[in-house]
Amino acid sequence: MDFRGKRVIVTGAGKGIGREIVRMLSERGAQVVALTRSAADIEALRGEFGCRALQVDLADADATREAAIAALPADFLINCAGTTELQPFLETTVEAFDRLVAVNTRAPMIVAQEYARSLIKEDRKGAIVNVSSVASFVGIPDHAAYCASKGGLDGLTRVMAKELAPHGIRANGVHPTVTLTPMAVKAWSDPEKAAGMMKRIPVGRFAEPADIAEVVLFLLSDQAAMVNGISMPVDGGYMIA
Ligand code: NDP
Repeated sequence: MDFRGKRVIVTGAGKGIGREIVRMLSERGAQVVALTRSAADIEALRGEFGCRALQVDLADADATREAAIAALPADFLINCAGTTELQPFLETTVEAFDRLVAVNTRAPMIVAQEYARSLIKEDRKGAIVNVSSVASFVGIPDHAAYCASKGGLDGLTRVMAKELAPHGIRANGVHPTVTLTPMAVKAWSDPEKAAGMMKRIPVGRFAEPADIAEVVLFLLSDQAAMVNGISMPVDGGYMIA
């Protein structure tokens, strides 16, 4: 897949899957505009990949809209930023729930609105990939707010796919299983919990960030021109187990 001459917005580009997406896109010729939070990651992204990097807290709706507008124009959008906090359902706090929905659900909506508005205004085609999770398909203990936030993101993906496709903009979701990133350390460091999850993955391993990035890039590309509105698990068969 050749992304030469393409400008791509990647949120959550500082670490994990987002960072790998930036690496792959840069290698394939794209000009990346990275939206992420930590100053050190912003510097590293600029230095290592020469991309434009904008610092933003995606939990802040106004700042998110401002950053999305500043990132334009772009050919493609990848909403990859996500966050989690582990709490059993009965102890899930309103504050944590709101924080997760703000970053995992509301921010992708805001960034996609600005991206799509600018394409429609210029009569250009595009594609959006929202990075969801297998957690939107199944109930994972201690992940109530996370599962709900990703389920909400899937709903957005499907509506975007219907409303934006007539304008030439496709929208799809990618659903990773446990992927070896800083987030996985936070969510899966309990060996017993990790072993239970691993047992349900027929290929017998957790995902690497590159496993997810390849699928994201495919869905953006013209090779996927007829793929719209899907929720694609990248899970080694977890969902059939
Ligand atoms: P990481 O925690 O490793 O990286 C997340 C990135 O998003 C970081 O750069 C982080 O920046 C950024 N980010 C998080 N919150 C904000 C915020 N409020 N404002 C701006 N940037 C923010 O996560 P992964 O790479 O593992 O996850 C990427 C996506 O994949 C997420 O949407 C996640 O839900 C999803 N996913 C991950 C799985 C996994 O097992 N890793 C499994 C299934 C789905 P900073 O560090 O500076 O806060």
